[in-house]
Amino acid sequence: MKNKKSGINTICTHVGETPDEQFKGSVSPIYMSSSYEFMDVGVKRYPRYFNTPNQEYLAKKIAALEHAEAAMIFSSGMAVISTTLLAFLSSGDHIVLQNDIYGGTRNLIEEQFKRFNIEYSFTEGLDANDFEKSIQPNTKLMYLETPSNPLLKLVDIEAVANVAKSKGILTVIDNTFATPIIQKPIDFGIDIVLHSATKYFGGHSDISAGAVATSQDNIDAIWNLAKNLGGNLSDFMVWMLERSMKTLNIRVKAQQKNAKKVAKKLQKLDAIDTVYYPGLKSHPDYKLAKKQMKGFGAMLSFDLAEGLDAEQFLKSLKLIKPSMSLAGVESTMILPAMTSHALLTPEDRAAQGIKDGLIRFSVGLEEVDALMTDVEQAISEIVN
Ligand SMILES: *Cc1c(COP(=O)(O)O)cnc(C)c1O
Repeated sequence: MKNKKSGINTICTHVGETPDEQFKGSVSPIYMSSSYEFMDVGVKRYPRYFNTPNQEYLAKKIAALEHAEAAMIFSSGMAVISTTLLAFLSSGDHIVLQNDIYGGTRNLIEEQFKRFNIEYSFTEGLDANDFEKSIQPNTKLMYLETPSNPLLKLVDIEAVANVAKSKGILTVIDNTFATPIIQKPIDFGIDIVLHSATKYFGGHSDISAGAVATSQDNIDAIWNLAKNLGGNLSDFMVWMLERSMKTLNIRVKAQQKNAKKVAKKLQKLDAIDTVYYPGLKSHPDYKLAKKQMKGFGAMLSFDLAEGLDAEQFLKSLKLIKPSMSLAGVESTMILPAMTSHALLTPEDRAAQGIKDGLIRFSVGLEEVDALMTDVEQAISEIVN
C-alpha cells in the first residue's frame, strides 16, 4: 500500500484529499449535496450512507494513519462507540471491558445494555490475564482504552490481543488519548480502533466527531448498522476535520514534548503529591509505554497534596482553562471527581484511585514556563 510508505506528515497533509478535478484548487472542495444522481453512477451517495465525497476521502487518511484497510467518520465519539459495539453484539452475547474506561462509554454500557440483554463484565485489573479471566463462553468482544482516563494507566495491547485471538474474540480499542501518531494498535493485533475525533484529531476544541478504523469486512458490518442509526457527520464538519488533521502530527508531538517537561516540573512541587504520566520513570507502566508507544502523550494527572482545595486551585488559574474536554492546542484542567467521574459513587471512585484532589491536565502548545508560572501562582493562592 502506497500510504504506508509515506511519512507521517505526508499522510496528515495529503492522503485522503478530495480531488478538485474542475479547478485544481490546492485544498479539498466541500461537497455539501445531500442529494446525488442515482442513475448510471454505480454508487448511491447520501450523507447517511457515509459515502459523500468528503466522508469517503477523509476516511482514507484515518485508515492510512491507523494502518487499517478502511475507516468511517461519525458525528461524535459516542456515535462511533455505540454503533460499533451494537454492530457486533446481539442479545445473549457478552463483552469484556477494561475496568477504567471513558465515563460516557461506561454509562452507555450500564444504562442501556441490560435492555438489549447484552451481558458485560469489567476486568478486575489491567493485566492480560484479568481480561482472560473475564471471558465467558458467549464473549464476542474485548474492549480496551490505553492510556486510560484519568490515571494514565496502560494495558499491554499485544498481550490482550493475543488472548482474544486465541479464543476468536474481536478486540476494540479506544485510541483517543494516544492517537495513531503515538500508538498504532492494529500493528499489535487489535481488530477495531475507535476515536473521539472531538479530541486530538480536531485539536482546536471546535469539532465534535468520531472515527473507526479496521478491516473492510468489519467496516461493512459497522456500516450495516450505521446507516440505520444515522450518526454521520455533516460534510462541512468533515472538511473542518480534514483541515485539522493536516497538523495532527506536529501538534501531538509538540504537546507531548511539553507534557513531559511539565510532568517533571510538577513532580518537584511540594503542593503536589503524585504525578501520573507514563513518561516518568516512576510510572509503573513506563517500560510498557516504551514498548507500545512512540512517546508518552500529552495527558497527565496529579494529586494536590492532602487538604488543599482543588476547586479553588482551578478557580485561581489564569492561563490554563478549567474546562471539560481535552486535547486542544490550549491547555485545560478538570477535576474528574466533579466531571467525568461524577456519576460514580465516592467508593467506586476511590476503588479506581481517583481522589477528590486529582486534577487531569491536558497539556497544550503554550510555553512550559507560562504553564508552570500559572500552576505555581494558583498553588500560592490556596496554600496558606
Ligand atoms: C471524549 C471521549 C470519548 C467520547 O467522545 P465524544 O466525541 O465526546 O462523543 C470517548 N473516549 C474518550 C477516551 C474520550 O476522551
